Amino acid sequence: LVQAREAALSFGQTPALRGANLSARAGEILAVTGPSGSGKSTLLHCLAGILVPDSGEIWFDGRRVDTLGEPERSTLRRDHFGFVFQFGQLVPELTAEENVALPLLLAKSRRASALAEARSWFGRLGLDGLEGRRSGELSGGQAQRVALARALVSRPEVLFADEPTGALDSLTGEHVMDLLVASARQEGTTVVLVTHEPRVAAHANREVIVRDGKVTPLFVERLGS
Ligand code: ATP
Ligand code: MG
Repeated sequence: LVQAREAALSFGQTPALRGANLSARAGEILAVTGPSGSGKSTLLHCLAGILVPDSGEIWFDGRRVDTLGEPERSTLRRDHFGFVFQFGQLVPELTAEENVALPLLLAKSRRASALAEARSWFGRLGLDGLEGRRSGELSGGQAQRVALARALVSRPEVLFADEPTGALDSLTGEHVMDLLVASARQEGTTVVLVTHEPRVAAHANREVIVRDGKVTPLFVERLGS
């Protein structure tokens, strides 16, 4: 469903990707692991059409993504993708429910229905009662779950999650992962999940390792998990 072919990207003199190949099949949960600085976040940003590689190709659902301009990629992201970023991402001026409703509002849903849809995710993610809080008034785990709700609210075909449990203690991290996996399976969402935690990767159907900007498959298929 999403694919990188020989994707290469440098930041100035620093090569972040050096010919990365990766494809995620529809409905699977794919874990992307690897050492710090190996290019995992960069690869995810390329797959999601946030960054454009210097060379190589990015594909989504039979469509070439890297040759599109930013307006078209932005539309593609809005209509098909959800993204949980590695670092802080909630809009501090907005309440939790407004943060979750944001993708729907950007897609020009009516405010009342967007907020109602957003609120329906709070119960599912164990966030009842936190709808009116601002991000500064949430714990790390709560903020992470609000970010997850925001990524899932538009029912994306592909969810890109970059270390969604990175800032959390292991118990809260497990809880967030369970919610992510359950929601993805329930909705049939394809998930590309970056993590450096083997315990988190164990939730995936398949795992690849990024090393020095290249992708190595791990020949372990975790089926039926
Ligand atoms: P981590 O596990 O620490 O999150 P990562 O595998 O996600 O690491 P990337 O963030 O993709 O790694 O970074 C890959 C390389 O590109 C690193 O050498 C990093 O320093 C560099 N890099 C990433 N983003 C930028 C940027 N915006 N400007 C300059 N260099 C960058
Ligand atoms: Mg990263």
